[in-house]
Amino acid sequence: MSTITLPQVDQAAGAPRRVKYVKDLDKIPNIPPDEREKLKKVAEKYVFRANDYYLGLINWEDPADPIKQLIIPRVEELSDWGQLDASNEAAVTVAKGVQHKYPETVLLLCNEVCGAYCRYCFRKRLFMDENDEVTNDVSEGLRYIAEHPEVTNVLLTGGDPLLMSTRRITEILEKIRAIPHVKIIRIGSKMPAFDPWRILNDEALQDALRKYSEPRRRIYLMAHFDHPRELTDPAVEGIDCFIKSGVICVNQCPLIKGINDDPKVLSTMFRQLSWMGCPPYYLFQGRPTAGNEPYEVPIVRGWEIFREALRYGSGLARRPRYSMSHETGKIEILGVDAKHIYLRYHRAKDAALRGRFMVYKRNDDAFWLDQLEPVDVGESPRFSPSAKFDYTYGPD
Ligand code: SF4
Repeated sequence: MSTITLPQVDQAAGAPRRVKYVKDLDKIPNIPPDEREKLKKVAEKYVFRANDYYLGLINWEDPADPIKQLIIPRVEELSDWGQLDASNEAAVTVAKGVQHKYPETVLLLCNEVCGAYCRYCFRKRLFMDENDEVTNDVSEGLRYIAEHPEVTNVLLTGGDPLLMSTRRITEILEKIRAIPHVKIIRIGSKMPAFDPWRILNDEALQDALRKYSEPRRRIYLMAHFDHPRELTDPAVEGIDCFIKSGVICVNQCPLIKGINDDPKVLSTMFRQLSWMGCPPYYLFQGRPTAGNEPYEVPIVRGWEIFREALRYGSGLARRPRYSMSHETGKIEILGVDAKHIYLRYHRAKDAALRGRFMVYKRNDDAFWLDQLEPVDVGESPRFSPSAKFDYTYGPD
């Protein structure tokens, strides 16, 4: 199969570089002035931020360029569609900046800025002036985690935690590591795509990761690459730097219309990610978030793209689960046939739903679980009375 041509980055991967942030659309002469005026109205509602490195990846000759679609606003974002908190994260917020939905995992929303703003972001509400869900002071979150021995995983998220100072990141890692029942620390970040020099330029950050990613309790980077054109030499070297700092790398991204809703694009990215030691982990169905209508792919179409993309590559390139982060849990999209859509709770907020298999009527226009009509298949086999499992998992 054909592959995607990677962009030429005007810089040797290893050379230090400091990216320049761009928040003003007027600073991007490649956008015609009349279009810029329209887009400024969009950016007043859903903020724009990029940097010179990432903007340099855009092929301005191509109106449908995927990198451009990812970062440059579109007037269609102003359509009346979706909700700002589509998965009702408010319902699992146990303290400011602390989310606890599944027993093992707590999210600390510790930063409200990203290296750039993805137009399809499901947490774009965090970047709005009136929002105060994020806290830089994680002490309450750390207290909460210390008091909950079932919490073995902590995800640093936001926003992008790697936009915090190295001193702050080191302090947080040190404090989490002082809690014996926390095993895995995850860092959710798109900085390897937006600014690989964040890690490449910073030996102190590399040292901190090396120190706190212990052989029995690793730090994971939940990287966020959406398109193979983001896998430039500096980006690949950035991932290599995380790996050499003892961090386990995996990738998760949404399926996004106009960016990666193409089996060839997805397959190329999955394979390249597996080669570089950052295998794909989740492909997410886009949440019905306000402003995101132009980026959404219906579930059935998404399944077809995903299934086709998984025809290529080794097993390591075919590991991602195609999932919906629904209010009730993480729901894996298992398959589609002429009449039905087959789903299963991969994670569930309610213990009774965990592992439940579900069948819905096929609806080619549906984007989200709530638009689907269930088919009664009786009790899920996983939970039939004869299926007796007697495992007890302790906090370890
Ligand atoms: S990096 Fe993540 S949190 Fe930041 S804008 Fe992109 S999707 Fe949203």
